[in-house]
Amino acid sequence: MANAPALTFEQIPHPAPVPGATRAQAIADPGFGTVFTDHMISIDWDEGHNGGKGGWHSAKLCAREPIMLDPAASVLHYAQEIFEGMKAYRREDGTMALFRPDQNARRFNDSARRLAMPELPEDAFIEAVETVVKADRDWFPDVEGGSLYIRPFMFANEHFLGVRPAKKYKFLTILSPAGNYFKSGAPAVSIWVSSDYSRAAPGGTGAAKCGGNYAASLVPQAEAIAKGHDQVVFLDAVERKWIEELGGMNLFFVFDDGSIVTPPLGGTILPGITRDSLLTLAREEGLTVREERYSLDQWREDATSGRLVETMACGTAAVVTPVGRVASRDGEFTIGTGGPGQLTSKLRAKLVGIQRGEVEDTHGWVRTID
Ligand SMILES: *Cc1c(COP(=O)(O)O)cnc(C)c1O
Repeated sequence: MANAPALTFEQIPHPAPVPGATRAQAIADPGFGTVFTDHMISIDWDEGHNGGKGGWHSAKLCAREPIMLDPAASVLHYAQEIFEGMKAYRREDGTMALFRPDQNARRFNDSARRLAMPELPEDAFIEAVETVVKADRDWFPDVEGGSLYIRPFMFANEHFLGVRPAKKYKFLTILSPAGNYFKSGAPAVSIWVSSDYSRAAPGGTGAAKCGGNYAASLVPQAEAIAKGHDQVVFLDAVERKWIEELGGMNLFFVFDDGSIVTPPLGGTILPGITRDSLLTLAREEGLTVREERYSLDQWREDATSGRLVETMACGTAAVVTPVGRVASRDGEFTIGTGGPGQLTSKLRAKLVGIQRGEVEDTHGWVRTID
């Protein structure tokens, strides 16, 4: 990888971008994940490239359009696929910014290694993201909390049905103008504890951001919705006792003595960049922060006694969201007042403020795009 020649991105602008009036309508109230911009990034990897060492090539910015896949493309059979989720923000002064994109680039490669896929040099990952955001800068929605949601992903596309790592991959990055993740802008979400399903087991792929983890979470997530809740929370797969995370968000517990707890990373939890940022911000607030296992029974007991005052879910898409109600096979409990708690609101405001350039970025987390 070290000697691989640097990638240059060929620019092939969309021949017929969406007209301004249609675009304005599409981004007026985009919701989440249904509206897409004009362009995408595409880069290919072949084992035969770079003198047989394998390498990335054909990097380009081009029109977002359907891709052709052979029916034997390996991703369709053995799910070699990983992705990232990040956002571009447009700030008061008109500049655009990314939040800790180096962390996404690094995590993407951590996921790639776990799924036996080639790594993409971090600078190429960041250039890919910046290039497509620049090309589609007119797609930022003007709504409150609006951003461009960025979805870099990679999949195996060798035509081969044997079981082994593929010899061909495609990396793409698409953009989706986004409003608030939860339709209502949800004051607090209600979550369902899955007793029948696990998200990740020790030695599995829980720490990788791969589509397969999400495929396995859809039935328990649908179960949560059917029972009248917004999200599912998973327990550890071994003792079925410890709280791990939601289908796509990490959890924090806030206590009446001002301390906070989040489940430790240990291979079964996705290492969220929002999680990591909140750990830092909470420590700066002078709070005692522990990465420690926390059980469902303790959660119920502490919520009932009032020792636990808040629970927050966090991730790029929904930022920081309060959890108001928790239900499981054994009944329901409410957290605090059932609405947003003080610390949740404070940390959310601070994080969003940094991302939007309204609060000083003392950590070098923000990368502006000109
Ligand atoms: C992406 C993701 C998160 C949140 O990660 P961020 O980097 O904060 O967006 C949490 N859990 C799962 C399972 C995820 O896929």
